[in-house]
Amino acid sequence: MENSGEPTIFDKIVAKEIPATVIYEDNLCLAFRDVAPQAKTHFLVIPKIRAGLTRLSNAEEEHKALLGHLLFTAQRVAKDEGLGEGFRVVINDGVQGCQSVYHLHLHVLGGQQLTWPPG
Ligand code: C5P
Repeated sequence: MENSGEPTIFDKIVAKEIPATVIYEDNLCLAFRDVAPQAKTHFLVIPKIRAGLTRLSNAEEEHKALLGHLLFTAQRVAKDEGLGEGFRVVINDGVQGCQSVYHLHLHVLGGQQLTWPPG
């Protein structure tokens, strides 16, 4: 459920209060392996500071550059992970989108043949 500004589990990962396998980091974002991978390769890209971005549908004009940076980073890390044959980027939004952590994150899935459509 969406919280009202309390630290999310991802804030705690950014703060290194809980462990994660980080595979990329810069001043704006962090990429780490999903603890419950849904594909051979599955990592998440998150903004270090949520800045109101609990979910994609909260995006405002001021978030455009950050959103672009997250998407750019997703493909860059995908290449570093050897996903040259293709991959999938997913953002779950809200209840019907099956979002469970209300801190914007991009799922990047690959390393195997994926199917379409998802459930
Ligand atoms: O899109 P959604 O909010 O459902 O995804 C949250 C993701 O965060 C899940 O895939 C879950 O496995 C992952 N997760 C994680 N490390 C944690 C907590 C959740 O990788 N400590």
